[in-house]
Amino acid sequence: MNQRRLTAGVLVIGTGAAGLRAAIELAESGQQVLCVGKRRRDDAHTVLAAGGINAALGTMDSQDSWQQHAADTIAEAYHLADPKVVELLAREAPAAIADLVDYGAVLAREPDGRLTQRYFGAHTYRRTCFAGDYTGREIQRTLVRRAAEAGVQMRDDVYVTRLLVHEGRAFGAYGFDVDDGTRQVILADAVILAAGGHTRIWRRSSSRRDENTGDAMRLAADAGCRLRDMELVQFHPTGMITPEEAAGTLVTEAVRGEGGILRNADGERFMERYDPERLELSTRDRIALANYTEIAEGRGTPAGGVLLDVTHLDRETILERLPRMYRQFVDVAMLDITQTPMEVAPTAHYSMGGVWVDAETHQTDVAGLYAVGECATGLHGANRLGGNSLVECLVFGKIVGAEAARWSASLDAQVRDRAVIAAADDEVAELLAQRGGTEFARPLQRAVRDLMSECAGVVRSEAGLAEGLTRLDAVADRLDTMEVRPDIAGFDDLVHAFDLKGSVLAARATLDCALERRETRGAHNRVDFPDQDPALAVNLLWRPDEPVGREAVGDPSPEVAALIAGRDEMPVAGRLLE
Ligand SMILES: Cc1cc2nc3c(=O)[nH]c(=O)nc-3n(C[C@H](O)[C@H](O)[C@H](O)COP(=O)(O)OP(=O)(O)OC[C@H]3O[C@@H](n4cnc5c(N)ncnc54)[C@H](O)[C@@H]3O)c2cc1C
Repeated sequence: MNQRRLTAGVLVIGTGAAGLRAAIELAESGQQVLCVGKRRRDDAHTVLAAGGINAALGTMDSQDSWQQHAADTIAEAYHLADPKVVELLAREAPAAIADLVDYGAVLAREPDGRLTQRYFGAHTYRRTCFAGDYTGREIQRTLVRRAAEAGVQMRDDVYVTRLLVHEGRAFGAYGFDVDDGTRQVILADAVILAAGGHTRIWRRSSSRRDENTGDAMRLAADAGCRLRDMELVQFHPTGMITPEEAAGTLVTEAVRGEGGILRNADGERFMERYDPERLELSTRDRIALANYTEIAEGRGTPAGGVLLDVTHLDRETILERLPRMYRQFVDVAMLDITQTPMEVAPTAHYSMGGVWVDAETHQTDVAGLYAVGECATGLHGANRLGGNSLVECLVFGKIVGAEAARWSASLDAQVRDRAVIAAADDEVAELLAQRGGTEFARPLQRAVRDLMSECAGVVRSEAGLAEGLTRLDAVADRLDTMEVRPDIAGFDDLVHAFDLKGSVLAARATLDCALERRETRGAHNRVDFPDQDPALAVNLLWRPDEPVGREAVGDPSPEVAALIAGRDEMPVAGRLLE
């Protein structure tokens, strides 16, 4: 067995915006940092982000303030966001944008040079900066370049299978090279987990294949961390449904913003029944629920979607205002949206729950282990505001970088537990020994996605969630007979096997927490408990084999609380919600 031993002052797992921002902070403060990912750094999930990134800069609306940004975020989170996390984010967001610009990011500007800011749904003022339709790509490109300049050591080919922990303290991670299978023992003073969310465990997801498979949640839970609010997953109302390999790919909210009309298979403009005033410009959770209901009640298309129609719009308008969507449908589905309505259905879009972290430091339950970005929790509560996640990556990326550096400097000695390394090694060896098994990981992964879509999708119930757990047990039982067969093309099979393990754990945590949240709140709809329950204005805590716990949510500062109390119902026209 080939094994490589690497050492780093701090190990960062994830080369998306969160991991890269943390790594830059570390490198610039003189730390030796290694940043690893399981896919190409220029193609991390962050690249998909389109609409923008928030900060109360006041370049367009000078009345804006960090307090108002915090108030908007807390008010829309259905009382489940951690006010400390939100306020810290809102305060630090302007500096995060300044850093980004300083690193060379090209964001849209007004003719006089000010950064342009646009409205995003539920923000009181214009506070979303953007780079055309490619904000995530621009941020990722900028951070990759800056990290290289700062001397961050980066690897795109390391799949992390386990965090190394001795007596509650992290000392590195174990993994393998996805190309040649070489085992990797990475020893470090501190570890930053920035490995993304778990939205790929639904059949339709706006993530790409093989990312957001719940790895971060499994790594953290196996290391002894608590997960929080795993049931809170944001479903975007409109994802593509065909072809199968593109199912879930986002159909931007701008389509409805430009006048797109939703119809069911009977040709009925059904939003007239769900939200007669705002129609297709209603909020994301309502439209997702409406689309879901039409399909579930048999008024969907034969392929299981509803129709989003822009054919009444002028062709030039479509090409000019929705060029990316026009191209996406031509490229992926050979469909001209100026002529034919798009078929869409809700798609799993964002993990609002994830790894429990301390509000200020983002340290997890394990000393020396931090979590940041989409895998962490606290900011979004039961409903994420568009544009807040990219800035979360930057603000808390910087903070965890500084915290990890401080932790590393405080250590007199670091213990390396050989038994823990051996156990991580055994886990990989056991999977590889499963040649001659009965089935591959992909069909099992598909079974997880099916059961999550059917039992824990946009609308949930006690009976459905219980059925989901039974079906999940059946998948989990088959893990031991899975065939894992790396070949000359690489170790993809081993990657899929570990992706599946992550998905199974993330699915269990989601189902358990969704059962426990016997109410409807934000993105979590329980058909059997259609109202909010004040007793459940709490965060839910999950650990394997333990009953789901509860944690009280703190109060915002008085100035932010006053702004929340004074907030009006907001118009939606002209405001993107992504
Ligand atoms: C279509 C779309 C549009 C969006 N638009 C916006 C927007 O306009 N504004 C906004 O604020 N947000 C938006 N978001 C959300 C935002 O893009 C993400 O929340 C954010 O980019 C997550 O960044 P991250 O660094 O936490 O994780 P990611 O970018 O997902 O990176 C995760 C990293 O972890 C690595 N990794 C995972 N597992 C392992 C493992 N086992 N071993 C090693 N490495 C591993 C991956 O290789 C990757 O490098 C959008 C999301 C989507 C899908």
